Amino acid sequence: MQFRDLKTQYQVLKKDIDEAMIKVATDCNFISGQQVKDLEKELAEYVGVKHCVTCANGTDALSIAMMAWKIGEGDAVFVPDFTFFSSGEIVSHAGATPIFVDVDEKTFNIDCDSLEKAIIKIKNEGNLTPKAIIAVDLFGLPADFTKVREIADKYGLYILEDGAQGFGGQIKGKVACSFGDISTTSFFPAKPLGCYGDGGAVFTNDDELADLMRSICVHGKGAMKYDNIRIGLNSRLDTIQAAILSIKLKAFSDYELTDVNKAASLYTEKLSELSKEYNFELPYIPDGYVSSWAQYTLKLENEEIRNKLQSYLKEKDIPTMVYYPKPMHKQEAFNEVAYTQDESNLKVTENLCKTVLSLPMHPYLKEEDIDVVVREIKNFFSK
Ligand SMILES: *Cc1c(COP(=O)(O)O)cnc(C)c1O
Repeated sequence: MQFRDLKTQYQVLKKDIDEAMIKVATDCNFISGQQVKDLEKELAEYVGVKHCVTCANGTDALSIAMMAWKIGEGDAVFVPDFTFFSSGEIVSHAGATPIFVDVDEKTFNIDCDSLEKAIIKIKNEGNLTPKAIIAVDLFGLPADFTKVREIADKYGLYILEDGAQGFGGQIKGKVACSFGDISTTSFFPAKPLGCYGDGGAVFTNDDELADLMRSICVHGKGAMKYDNIRIGLNSRLDTIQAAILSIKLKAFSDYELTDVNKAASLYTEKLSELSKEYNFELPYIPDGYVSSWAQYTLKLENEEIRNKLQSYLKEKDIPTMVYYPKPMHKQEAFNEVAYTQDESNLKVTENLCKTVLSLPMHPYLKEEDIDVVVREIKNFFSK
């Protein structure tokens, strides 16, 4: 059983993907080919925003937003403590200070009470200027953007939606990567919409920001490529990746998003009794929300049970992952940050790192596989 089955996906899409890759090789338009422009249009339409600018990866996408807003030294950016390293790394890389805030124990997304507490603390201390909130759509579920927007408006902060795991998620019919002042995603192969290497994109409705970010992606270009008007990056999506993504985006919107949701419903249905009997929690999707299921994550009663279950499933050839074993504020890299994070405001994350376990999850997961996983979880607990 595969944790995320990219091989089956390729077999299903092989004919179209092979043709698309060979066309790029034949035309030799490896950089900035027409396929890149076409994809940007398709992505912007799918997400429902005015502009999409593709770039080299999801981490660059976040950095490009920081650069566009000129966030740097002396600025504070609020980041969930429970996320992939990038979400905080790019803040430090920009020279600003990441302030880690806790997540909700049910959705695992940014907790707005913890967020507001942290903002007030930074304002009262008076050493850093609060600038932006990075809200992550963790495991495919959009963050609570109604509340995040209220807080952003109240304190005059930008919202950066890190939709690296959230592409395809929805809140009341509105699609993920449309909730931030700038939103980003990643096309790393294992993400909900992945390419065959690294890739990423930024989204915005703001014309000026879109132009600025397009310039940043290509060495701060001005009217033309050899007219450089700002310091930028070399961060582009390869034509071959764009060609692959156009095909994958169609499959994603035609059936993959539906199928991955079917797989999630099957897990939830089949695990529901067991979870009550043995005291573990299944993923929680609030009313009106749709997840794109980057992960299907259980929350076990404690660390010992989580680790034992993981070893047991491994013996049975069922791959699982712990996303994430360490809170951001405990990552050694952030020891350099000249700000002492408020650990009393990060307790939910500390517990999640000890208790979460992600099961095999992808649109090509068969009911038979789900039955095997459920049976082995049952065997583990009834031992
Ligand atoms: C994967 C990921 C990123 C980074 O994306 P890359 O394309 O790997 O650079 C950023 N944030 C989150 C939440 C992610 O899961």
